[in-house]
Amino acid sequence: MTAPDAPNQGPRDHAPRVVSMGCRLNTYEGEVMRAHARDAGLSNAIIVNTCAVTKEAERQGLQTLRKLRRENPGAHIVATGCAVQLDPARYAAMPEVDRVLGNEHKMKAESFHAEPAEKVLVSDIMTVRETAEHLVEGFDGRTRAFVQVQQGCDHRCTFCIIPFARGNNRSVPMGRIVQEVRGLVQGGYQEIVITGVDITGYGGDLPGTPSLGQMARRLLMAVPELKRLRLSSLDPAEADEDLFQLIADEPRLMPHFHISAQAGDDMILKRMKRRHSRADIISFCERVRALRPDAVFGADLIAGFPTEDETMFENSLALVDDAGLTLLHVFPYSIRQGTPAARMPQVNGVVIKERAARLRAKGMDAFTRRLAAYVGKSVSVLMEKDGRGHSEHYLPVNIADAAPGSMLTARIVSTTETALVGVI
Ligand code: SF4
Repeated sequence: MTAPDAPNQGPRDHAPRVVSMGCRLNTYEGEVMRAHARDAGLSNAIIVNTCAVTKEAERQGLQTLRKLRRENPGAHIVATGCAVQLDPARYAAMPEVDRVLGNEHKMKAESFHAEPAEKVLVSDIMTVRETAEHLVEGFDGRTRAFVQVQQGCDHRCTFCIIPFARGNNRSVPMGRIVQEVRGLVQGGYQEIVITGVDITGYGGDLPGTPSLGQMARRLLMAVPELKRLRLSSLDPAEADEDLFQLIADEPRLMPHFHISAQAGDDMILKRMKRRHSRADIISFCERVRALRPDAVFGADLIAGFPTEDETMFENSLALVDDAGLTLLHVFPYSIRQGTPAARMPQVNGVVIKERAARLRAKGMDAFTRRLAAYVGKSVSVLMEKDGRGHSEHYLPVNIADAAPGSMLTARIVSTTETALVGVI
């Protein structure tokens, strides 16, 4: 599991609108649904792709559905995504909602052709064995494309509700990944972000059980025109040997690694049922840094997991320096009913908030130090919009008057609080 992208609304006139909440996988699926709705002639559709990773994410989904109905009385509103998969009856009961689609049905074209009578199409996601067949052609308003390589998760971390919303691990066959990436590169995308729920679980369900590293190497060989390949969250306990080899010898694999760390204390990691220890996180970073000295690391960290005391929390704080983390996604622990952690002794809500703020401050400090280290250096930047782009290390870079989609080499002359400032 992984960090959040901003809601993406897409064009406003006579084309299906998609509001994707939560993770990159939702954004990817949002583009699949936009095409399905368009092909079904649902030009007045508004699709809300909900997230269930935290209570707050669920609340935002409900709020968004109500707001969109108020603002668009004539629209055909579709509620879908993880929060819907977990509790379809709740969304079916909403007068604001016209159609309720589960996570399997949202990826099927026929779901958008269904008669209004079939308001609710939700299956038992734990019985789904394959990823749906589809090819995304583009991402509205984005210069980086996300490609799903895997879906679901076989793990059962005690705080996480995602496997119950997305089902078990299912990998996209190699051929389809290559076909999709080739199409996106021919469409002008210079960077592809590999996404899924647990991408280090890639291939476990495929013939010959190819690993993530093997898949990525074959992809880069099959699409030599692809300039940048970026990985999303990695489970440090499951990084394979081929991946380390690729990190060492493939410059098109971006030197930015986001770790699904979750905590920096071994007792808490044990109670989370994570497969790695604190030392595993640190040695993963050290090994990658030895292979790729300029590598930049990000991490997901939860503050206030049940039973966490001050000493345990300080081990998470200290992990930022001990592992050399730069880009933190901090999650205040959010109780998810139905998970084992929900039955553990909870940390006080005020303490959770306070710890999350301290972790974010620690992360901001590390980020600021990392930015300062680039002044005077040159970096390669893929421009997005409003004069902002990202370096290979996934650091934000401001370059005045640079066109979206352009790939530039910029000299870093200064920094702001949130970005490098480059000139070309
Ligand atoms: S169960 Fe664990 S590995 Fe799976 S999605 Fe949740 S946090 Fe990630």
